[in-house]
Amino acid sequence: MLTKVRLKRGIRVIRPIFRVAIMLLMVGLLTLPAYATRIYGGYYTAARIANLRNNCNTYEWAKQQRTTVIARAKAWVAKSDDELWAIVPGQDLPRCIDVTFDRLTTGPKFLGCLNCGKKVLKYGTYPYEPDFINKPWKLSCPACGAIFPTNDFGKYYQSGINKAGVFDPAKADKKLLYNTTHPDPKDPLYKYGVDDGYGYIDKNGRSYRYIGYYTWKYWDNIRNGLSYLADAFLYTGDQQYAHKAAILLDRIADVYPTMDWKPYADRGWFHSDKGTGKGKIQGSIWENGTAQRFADDYDKIISGTVNDDALYAFLKKKSETYVLPTTKGNRDLFVKNIDDNILRCAFKAVVSGQIFGNEGMQQLTAAKCAVALNTNPETTQWLDWIFSPTGGAIPKTIINQFDHDGSTNEGAPNYSVFLGIEITNIASLLDDYPAYTKHNFFKEFPQLSATFTLAYRWAALGIAIPNIGDSGATGLVSMHEVNVQFMAKGFRYTNDPDIAIAAYRANKNSAAGLGRDIFSKDPDSLSRIIKQIAGKAGPRPIGGYLMSGFGLALLEDSNGASGIALANNYGRTIKHAHPDMLNFDIFAFGHWLTPDFGYPEFATDWPNNTEWSGSTLSHNTVFVDKHPQKEIWSGHTQLFKQLKGFGVFEIDGKKAYPEIKEYRRTMLLIGGNNDKNAYVVDIFHVEGGKDHVYSLHGPPGAVATTGLNLIVQPSGTYAGENIPKGALAKTDFPIGYSYLYNVKRDPHPPAQFILDWKANAGYRGLTAQDDVHLRMYALNQCNDVALADGDPPQNKAGNPENLGFVLMHRSGNELNSTFVSVIEPYEHSPFIKSVKRLDDGKGSDISIQVEKTDGSMDYVLYNSSSQKITRLKNGMNMTGTVGYINTLNGKPQRGVLVDGTSLNYGKMHLHQKKEITGKIIKMNKETSGGGWIWVDAKLPVDGTLNGQQIIVDTEYDRDAAYTIRSAARDGNLTKIYCGPICFVRGQKGNKYLYDFDEGAVFKIPLHAAWDK
Ligand SMILES: [Zn+2]
Ligand SMILES: [Zn+2]
Repeated sequence: MLTKVRLKRGIRVIRPIFRVAIMLLMVGLLTLPAYATRIYGGYYTAARIANLRNNCNTYEWAKQQRTTVIARAKAWVAKSDDELWAIVPGQDLPRCIDVTFDRLTTGPKFLGCLNCGKKVLKYGTYPYEPDFINKPWKLSCPACGAIFPTNDFGKYYQSGINKAGVFDPAKADKKLLYNTTHPDPKDPLYKYGVDDGYGYIDKNGRSYRYIGYYTWKYWDNIRNGLSYLADAFLYTGDQQYAHKAAILLDRIADVYPTMDWKPYADRGWFHSDKGTGKGKIQGSIWENGTAQRFADDYDKIISGTVNDDALYAFLKKKSETYVLPTTKGNRDLFVKNIDDNILRCAFKAVVSGQIFGNEGMQQLTAAKCAVALNTNPETTQWLDWIFSPTGGAIPKTIINQFDHDGSTNEGAPNYSVFLGIEITNIASLLDDYPAYTKHNFFKEFPQLSATFTLAYRWAALGIAIPNIGDSGATGLVSMHEVNVQFMAKGFRYTNDPDIAIAAYRANKNSAAGLGRDIFSKDPDSLSRIIKQIAGKAGPRPIGGYLMSGFGLALLEDSNGASGIALANNYGRTIKHAHPDMLNFDIFAFGHWLTPDFGYPEFATDWPNNTEWSGSTLSHNTVFVDKHPQKEIWSGHTQLFKQLKGFGVFEIDGKKAYPEIKEYRRTMLLIGGNNDKNAYVVDIFHVEGGKDHVYSLHGPPGAVATTGLNLIVQPSGTYAGENIPKGALAKTDFPIGYSYLYNVKRDPHPPAQFILDWKANAGYRGLTAQDDVHLRMYALNQCNDVALADGDPPQNKAGNPENLGFVLMHRSGNELNSTFVSVIEPYEHSPFIKSVKRLDDGKGSDISIQVEKTDGSMDYVLYNSSSQKITRLKNGMNMTGTVGYINTLNGKPQRGVLVDGTSLNYGKMHLHQKKEITGKIIKMNKETSGGGWIWVDAKLPVDGTLNGQQIIVDTEYDRDAAYTIRSAARDGNLTKIYCGPICFVRGQKGNKYLYDFDEGAVFKIPLHAAWDK
């Protein structure tokens, strides 16, 4: 393989050598240079470019792309060579991304507009959009229309162009610095709004940096112009585009080494630099995008710069007019300038940290530069750097940050998928560059493959991703993170049929357009393969699943918008996640009905975030001993079963409150006779501590109560009558209490009561005709119960103004609480007639009777000490953890027993083994090769375990529950395959750390079902 690739590369290099040799012979020189300048970059090879241009002549869609690309380049290709050359500014044209933000000031950080003040802040983080053609060097305020700066900066700029052809403030004519509408020096407005590049300084000494902001956008404009020209050359092969792009690139290369953001950061100005003050044209984070685009555009046009004598003559002439850093005059010198002063310069900046963004970004920058350089040994060395533990250290990042779902140490979906996208971009780029053979990411790290389907798997019913942590918005129904082309790309690089099937389903059960590759000879071949594989697999199956890597337990009763789903998130509560261990949301009638707040007003140190939307109390979970949950990696699965019309999970979240004995939630989703009749049973067990508050909120809308005697608290908040809304929690009341207002309280609540939320018209598209409710039957004794309003983030489109909360409070010494409720989403009229708790209401042996309007009766039995028998007066009995019996006229219709040995009623008798237990004897300890476990127990190998969970006992942070894909006998052992995953959770020195250890005990809870 290696030789073959080298041969291929050899051929590629020979051609230019011959040309140069012939040329040199012709001019009478007999010695060859040590190397010959390459014709092509590493990505846009002759074959790729030829395929693209052929496709543009063959396919209508490709033709359309070409038309668009040509139209975009039109204004840029019309510019003269001189104009393009002069457009590139140097280091001394100041730049920043906010007009007034001041990192050093002790006063307000933002001032807004010089004319209308804070009004402009409503127009977003970056409110100004310059018009380069009609209003050069001006910014117009979108709020008041005022235009700044008031001076003719363009003229001033021109007066400052020095011998090197760049702006030098010391040389510029200061006499030009006046307000052009008030040109009389005696006029008090003569200097008003004048910006010399360092901002207009007001009477308080604060600067308004209109030119700085403009220059940021001005560079963006140049970068876009370069890309438009490069694309136009790529699509057409017309050298005029490459010629114009080359002028920009050569000029950028002249100034790029001197570009440094730091002097401006030192003035307190703002850019995307993580506060480090590092960067080049941009702050260190965004510079990645800039350097990547330069490298990519260079790669696109390099083959268009052969035999362009006019280009080299032009550049030579410029070097005679100005003092330029490099010699000009031929293609070798041009290529050397870009190689040295863009590619090598950017790579050096990556290594030094001057270019440094989120993990994965700078490594992609290094890869793009290396591939564009396409010159060994450097290209290989740079790509090696990506893998080096002291360099880009991507393997270390993957090992420490990824879980087996392809998500990372971030708990919010959008943040959690980001690293996978970045790293798979590097991985696919290397895959497309066969000259580099040292690593294959996809084979070495199977976690990466899971990244491609991650977002789709998050989607409840295949349509709605829960708004977990700093993601989405309150009750937003969206598939925002799902990108079908990203999924198709995953299939291209991994050949994993599961990815093809997921892509097809996510693309509305179609392969049309999936993985279309304009650089391929047969651009739609992938789509045809996907269709072949996925067409056979059919649409998304009904039923939820467990994502134990990310931490999402999903139960579903059917599929699509008419289905009902229950999503419990129990993964990371760190970083952009919230301290919301065991929080849940119910999706029904196309809406989230216990909606997570989603993205905060500002994902930063902002009181509404730190004390409310990012607190424990604002989530549907239990708040213990008046302090938020501890930030942890994950809860631990105890049970997970999804059968037809019945699902249950039990998750242990104790690590979030390590000082107490139990913090465990068991939830069931029980389907009825049709899709629209499914309800949730919630059993939340909290043992230890002195104060428990069960918090739940429904959809926005009025809350009706039955059974409560509510007394209105005349003022204040849940924190107290005298504590106003939004007061900051210090020591006198817990975090979150002051954000709950309009408090009504029953100080002596009954053991059972009913709440009913009616969702407001206008909530995420609900109309007045929709009549969607959420009803809660609370079935446990509390000290007091309060209702209150709480506001989700107010600056997000579509978020409700407020939501109704219920707070069930218990207090006492050595508290042992089991919060029990039945939650029924319904449309128009409820399908549940009554709910009763049949046990004594004290212990953890719980029996619930649910009477339905169709005359049938459900019984839900739960017994946490599953050795003890549960007996009901009607003769039902269970030895087990979870039982469900549906009856009609006193006769059993359906029964399910989970993790138990018997369930009996009338003629229904379920008997089985409770669970399979044993020890892990060995496991695959590598990152590649798949999730193989060998256990000492003789497991059934007839396929009955496939899809069930093997739950391994572990003391470590991650959930060690895995879905069994297959089981087979291996000598005295059983060999279990848990899919293309690995068990590595990190690395200490040279040793891997695992989710669990060999020798650990495991259980596979069993279940049995009975139908009439
Ligand atoms: Zn304004
Ligand atoms: Zn949240």
